[in-house]
Amino acid sequence: MEQTLKGTIIYGDEFEPVDGYITIEDGIIKTVEECTGKTDTIIAPCFVNAHTHIGDSVIKDPPFLPLAELVQPPHGLKHRILKETSHDDLVRSMKASIADMIHTGTCAFSDFREGGLGGVRALKSALGSDSGIEARILGRPVNGDMSYLDSCEGTGLSSTNDMDIDIVKGIARKTKEKGKKFAIHAGERDSSDISAALELLPDFLIHLTNAGKKDIKAVAEANIPVVVCLRSNFMTGSGLPPVKKMLDGGILVAAGTDNVMLNSVNMFSEMEFLAKTCRFEDRQVFKLCTLNGAKLLGIDRESGSIKTGKKARLMILTKNSNNMQGIKNPLSSLVRRARPDDIIGIV
Ligand SMILES: [Zn+2]
Repeated sequence: MEQTLKGTIIYGDEFEPVDGYITIEDGIIKTVEECTGKTDTIIAPCFVNAHTHIGDSVIKDPPFLPLAELVQPPHGLKHRILKETSHDDLVRSMKASIADMIHTGTCAFSDFREGGLGGVRALKSALGSDSGIEARILGRPVNGDMSYLDSCEGTGLSSTNDMDIDIVKGIARKTKEKGKKFAIHAGERDSSDISAALELLPDFLIHLTNAGKKDIKAVAEANIPVVVCLRSNFMTGSGLPPVKKMLDGGILVAAGTDNVMLNSVNMFSEMEFLAKTCRFEDRQVFKLCTLNGAKLLGIDRESGSIKTGKKARLMILTKNSNNMQGIKNPLSSLVRRARPDDIIGIV
């Protein structure tokens, strides 16, 4: 089936706004051609949300508490509530977050799923057989049981400070022996767990909120990508990560919305927050929310930008809404102003 779309295309890996047509055949971008004349829409690649915990979708409005009291295993608020949540409620709430991601323009996400094999299965059941979104699930052991590894992409742990380091090392080793991905949070509350996390040679790190100069240099030298979650850090009072310094140091940085308990999965909100707190180039901000996430997840050959041969994972936004009418710079308006209700179509 062939489909043609006309609009201002946020084109290529450099996200250059180009007025033109996109032809899509069987879900693949076949051609991108320039045109002249006014266009009423912006056609942009969909977001990649590089770090979520959608398991805590059952908790939407916790009080402002210190980070440890909120999320630290095993006694943080999140873990106490998850323990009491029925399987059906858990799956239902995750389904809603998945639908929310799709409606707000996200085509892929990477989730840290608690609860061992049962936790991974619950998320898979929420995804169903054809959810319209790509999920990369990183599970977590329960009482040493790592059988979840056969059902997902790898392991995602909290911090080296939350567990016996020898146990953490064993989990990392077993994950890698299976040829799976290993990722871990680091530098969120302070920088004390960054070196220990680096020694585990993770496939990627989450946060690095409190990373200093030396930490950034070490992460860059080890060539380890980082997912930053700014709204989450702000909400937990952890500070804001040195995103610009990480990028200048040559680190691949992607963006994620983190716990659903703390933030909605809406990447427009994350992107706007990132743009306005970091104040660097809009193009770079958009890249963090799309192509860099795709690279980190290993799906950049088919997702993350608009190019011929890639999958058509696109969102179409109107330029005529009350919010968007009169815009002059489509990329800046997309990054700092656009909202999910400006979306008129998802391909
Ligand atoms: Zn997290």
